[in-house]
Amino acid sequence: MTAFNPATFRNDFPALAQSGVYLDSAATALKPQPVIDAISQYYTAETGNVHRSQYAHAQQVTARFEQVRCTVAALLNADDPRCIVWTRGTTEAINLVAQSYARPRLQPGDEIIVSEAEHHANLIPWLMVAQQTGARIVKLPIGVDAQPDLEALADLITPRTRLLALSQMSNVTGGQPDLAKAIALAHQAGAVVMIDGAQGIVHGAPDVQALDIDFYAFSGHKLFGPTGIGVLYGKADLLESMPPWHGGGKMMSAVSFDGFTPQAIPQRFEAGTPAIAEVLGLGAALTWMQGYDWRAAEHYGQGLAQLAEQQLARFPCFRSLRSPNATILSFTLSDVHPNDLATLLAEQQIAVRAGHHCAQPLFAALGLDGAVRASFAPYNNEHDVTALVTAVGNALDLLRD
Ligand code: PMP
Repeated sequence: MTAFNPATFRNDFPALAQSGVYLDSAATALKPQPVIDAISQYYTAETGNVHRSQYAHAQQVTARFEQVRCTVAALLNADDPRCIVWTRGTTEAINLVAQSYARPRLQPGDEIIVSEAEHHANLIPWLMVAQQTGARIVKLPIGVDAQPDLEALADLITPRTRLLALSQMSNVTGGQPDLAKAIALAHQAGAVVMIDGAQGIVHGAPDVQALDIDFYAFSGHKLFGPTGIGVLYGKADLLESMPPWHGGGKMMSAVSFDGFTPQAIPQRFEAGTPAIAEVLGLGAALTWMQGYDWRAAEHYGQGLAQLAEQQLARFPCFRSLRSPNATILSFTLSDVHPNDLATLLAEQQIAVRAGHHCAQPLFAALGLDGAVRASFAPYNNEHDVTALVTAVGNALDLLRD
């Protein structure tokens, strides 16, 4: 493992050679060269489908494709690579659980607890399945720290609670609820837990066995890998109890006009040609990450977000939504619409995101229309912080003229 050196770390990212300051890594991370190379290598020298053909390229690529499944299983400390299902991303993984696990089981009056801090990807699939089954969505409110209030959770759980949907890390505040506590409470009531790891995985992969996680989802593109590939982890007995949700090639062991027999897990959930280059790219991202002291990199990113928060606080109208130690800094400036600020920052080549960040219920609870989010990664530096703060100052001068 190489010690983390911010200056040389940046060299891995060709996109940084372009002008501008990238502070939108919570939306999607920049890609290191080994990821780009793995994708390019597949298309230039190794193209072949997986799990279908006898020729050498196809056999080799199948082995490498399945090896990445083992790498992801090891990352999450899953005891069996069959528990790792490829999806297009976190969104698709949660929809898979909603439609294939929850929909066949839920009865009218059953309850799904969803935290108020969730991204829409971990709310709308549950609203949809509630509509389909007559189940009820129960809101787990946020507390004063804008985190899901786990003290309230114990009171919300009833004998009808079937599922708890919670994210490992908020994409707005960067806050991380106590997963162990939430999972233990849900399990005491016999409910299963869906953890949205889209943001959290970047800051530390969970040990799914130690935490006793039932379902966990993440997206490759936030973890320095390609778009179009995501992961659903599920406990083997849960996945085995679920019917396929997409039909097509390679998800069945036999088919006739009378019906079909589903494949074993995980292939049962992977109908059609998968995102082969993207899986290989994700594998390259994970191997590349293993080369660095990630704890040091994470600490460095937190320091940058904290510095930016301290420096922006000199603007009297500044309000930070950042949880302690987060690399995500969402903020508002009173009387300034977040979209206006983001546009003025974009004109100064600062890439941030503005709006409700696909978390409308959270913003409603905070009494805000939206926020600007600057998200820091280990490839950012103090120059980026200075550029952001200067650009916000310029924007305010312009708006107040
Ligand atoms: N959950 C959270 C917390 C997220 O930040 C995101 C991405 N914005 C998602 C879910 C959805 O991820 P994807 O769009 O990659 O499916």
